[in-house]
Amino acid sequence: MRARLDELVTAALQRGAAVPAFTCYDFTTATAVVEAAEETGLPVILNVAPKTAATRAGQRLIAALRGLADGASVPVCVQLDHASDLAVIVESVRSGADCVLADGSSLGFEENIALVREVRAALDADGGPAHSDAMDADGGPAVVLEAELGGLAGDEDKAFALDSDVQAAGLTDPAQVRDFAERSGAQLLAVAIGNVHGKYKGAPQIRWDVLERISAVANVPLVLHGASGIPADELLKARTLGVGKVNFNTELRTAILAALEAETAAHRADGENLQGLLGRWSATAREFAAATLRTLGE
Ligand SMILES: [Zn+2]
Repeated sequence: MRARLDELVTAALQRGAAVPAFTCYDFTTATAVVEAAEETGLPVILNVAPKTAATRAGQRLIAALRGLADGASVPVCVQLDHASDLAVIVESVRSGADCVLADGSSLGFEENIALVREVRAALDADGGPAHSDAMDADGGPAVVLEAELGGLAGDEDKAFALDSDVQAAGLTDPAQVRDFAERSGAQLLAVAIGNVHGKYKGAPQIRWDVLERISAVANVPLVLHGASGIPADELLKARTLGVGKVNFNTELRTAILAALEAETAAHRADGENLQGLLGRWSATAREFAAATLRTLGE
């Protein structure tokens, strides 16, 4: 069923929970994630990477995920992750994305605000069918925007080992948080607090002092990207400090690739059994998603 991302995450925080987002590069993974959400009875977010969305197949994938989300027995959001290209954003919303990370984190403070506002204006001007449907019951903007303040090191789609302290220079400045959220109109805010995209070299060094200061002033739910490799107890601690959405990508890819590595030979021997191999892919993604949903949601 449909849900507004901001309402979903706020409701989760109110009951002491957080909602995971899983990057889905394909329909098998997305289906497995939604099955895991239904199995656990918890809401979930399907993330689509910008490089995926920039292709024709990626736009068809967004439409397929939209159908999957609408048919689910639990709330599911379809989010375009880390996007700054207005044309891709508008097209993705037309295809069925109901939330977007308008990512101006590589820009200066004012330019970042301007980008988020530009995305909102472009979506308002486009006003396609995805904007005007029933999910906007309270008169607010139908497409929910997340923004990112502070820069995250690493690559979203490929995992390289990174020191948590490479992040130090790009940490979110707590003093800017309120002003940024108010002026940009972003409904969720991704923070840089020592988290990185990809793999952590050694233990992640989360700057709890920074998150505490952000949490004290933030008036929108916070989002933690690069959660792969951050221990569960730290994710639960972040949850108590206003982090209501946690993004997973690398860990899910690692689990799927390990399953494929272990199972491909047997399925090749079993009459080139691609269907069987996809079954293992699906089961692996479902297991990972269910365990993560339970950790954060219960
Ligand atoms: Zn991210």
